[in-house]
Amino acid sequence: MSLKKDLLDRTIDCPKCWVKMDRKELEVFGPDIVIDICPKCEGIWLDKGELNKLLKNRKLSDYLTKHIGTQSKSKLVCPRCSKLMDIETAEDIEIDVCLGCNGVWLDHGELAKLNKISKDGFEVDEFSKAEERWEEMVQKERQSMLLGMFRRLSGKR
Ligand SMILES: [Zn+2]
Ligand SMILES: [Zn+2]
Repeated sequence: MSLKKDLLDRTIDCPKCWVKMDRKELEVFGPDIVIDICPKCEGIWLDKGELNKLLKNRKLSDYLTKHIGTQSKSKLVCPRCSKLMDIETAEDIEIDVCLGCNGVWLDHGELAKLNKISKDGFEVDEFSKAEERWEEMVQKERQSMLLGMFRRLSGKR
């Protein structure tokens, strides 16, 4: 799903404190990076692709934003597209990723932590990813079983 530019340019509300977030251009990270920062909790919103630009670590940013499945474990609702978000973990850092637009919510200080594990040489934790895929599979299995049951009940094949 790609977002329209006018939607990306719109100011968003912090998903935690519901105040308008500031749009800040970050020169240190190079051109074209405008991030949204909450003036109250200093959380950061990153649209799809921006995490990779900030961390300059495709392995880590892909790890955090791909294969996120369809199940939501986060309490946050995406400030950009209003879809549910899911929690992704890298080492001991938990970040919220949108299941709809792949935007990322970082609490205050989490960007620095991610930068640190990125520099320390992040290694993908295959075990926890496998666990997540397994949960996803079980969920799908259950859904198709229910669907099959429903079809039988309604007499359709
Ligand atoms: Zn906030
Ligand atoms: Zn979203």
